[in-house]
Amino acid sequence: MLPLPFTFEKPTTIADAITAIGDSDDAMFYSGGTELLLAMKMRVIRTDRLVDIKSIPGLDRIVLNDADEIELGSRCTHRMIAQDPVLRRHVPALAALCANVANVRVRNVGTIGGNLCFGEPHADPPTLFAALNARLLLQGGGGTRSVEADDFIRSELETVREPDELLTMIVFPRPTGPVTYRRFKHGERPSVNVAMAWSMGAADTIGSARVRVGALGSRPQPLKAVEAALAGCPIADGRTAIEAVLADALDELEVNDDRHGGADYKRHLAGVLLLRNAEEAMTRREMPR
Ligand SMILES: Cc1cc2nc3c(=O)[nH]c(=O)nc-3n(C[C@H](O)[C@H](O)[C@H](O)COP(=O)(O)OP(=O)(O)OC[C@H]3O[C@@H](n4cnc5c(N)ncnc54)[C@H](O)[C@@H]3O)c2cc1C
Repeated sequence: MLPLPFTFEKPTTIADAITAIGDSDDAMFYSGGTELLLAMKMRVIRTDRLVDIKSIPGLDRIVLNDADEIELGSRCTHRMIAQDPVLRRHVPALAALCANVANVRVRNVGTIGGNLCFGEPHADPPTLFAALNARLLLQGGGGTRSVEADDFIRSELETVREPDELLTMIVFPRPTGPVTYRRFKHGERPSVNVAMAWSMGAADTIGSARVRVGALGSRPQPLKAVEAALAGCPIADGRTAIEAVLADALDELEVNDDRHGGADYKRHLAGVLLLRNAEEAMTRREMPR
């Protein structure tokens, strides 16, 4: 099926892109088009105006800034992230995640911003960004604001972004300890995924931990009991500390039965992936500067 007719604009500044969207509820930003065009062809999305953001300079930068944070432009494709030397050095888990998303055609044109803004629950990057304590910078007619990755996805295919807000950048602190990511998938998208980021404490202990489980409900969820068990724990005891609280922590997750499997099965997978993450993290130490 072909999409319904639409107009196409190609602004060269963020301000012009926001103006082009205006206050229309139907106009949409167009980045790589890998989700959008499919949805338009299936007529799941109906829009009469696309605003192509590919010609806006500066949206595809990846830098380690003076505040020791990584700035990742929303127009970075999965391929760019997979190959970027800054990310491969400081967040190899993110580079590896993007090297394995989708297929080579999607990785070449699909962007990290498009992935996040689509709000698909069965996605890889949102879970890792939440574990990395990332914030998303949005710029729209009402000004600029920053939203924590944990709060960005409101529900399935719905984010807190207003229609005229452009996601410009994802920013997160340079990890100082191990960051790990595991997923299980049997189709195109992940059925379950788990991301974990540790900071290092004194004398071979874990300082603090952020643990997120994704693709089970509409958005990534924290495993607070696991984070509490890991904080201050000797690195060598990481797996045991998790095992002690795992069953109760998994019970608290909101899990949907869907075509990826039943709730019990997916909870089980989350536990397996979490323990594998822990084993990997326990073999790592501080990240290079
Ligand atoms: C076959 C296939 C397999 C896939 N497998 C996986 C997988 O295994 N794991 C996974 O995580 N993902 C997977 N994906 C999703 C893939 O990551 C996304 O399709 C891609 O990243 C979307 O980026 P895009 O630039 O093409 O977005 P587009 O299709 O251009 O846009 C998607 C949505 O985001 C909005 N948007 C885009 N950029 C911005 C911006 N900067 N600011 C505001 N709004 C914006 C658009 O208006 C639209 O609503 C798969 C997709 C396909 C087609």
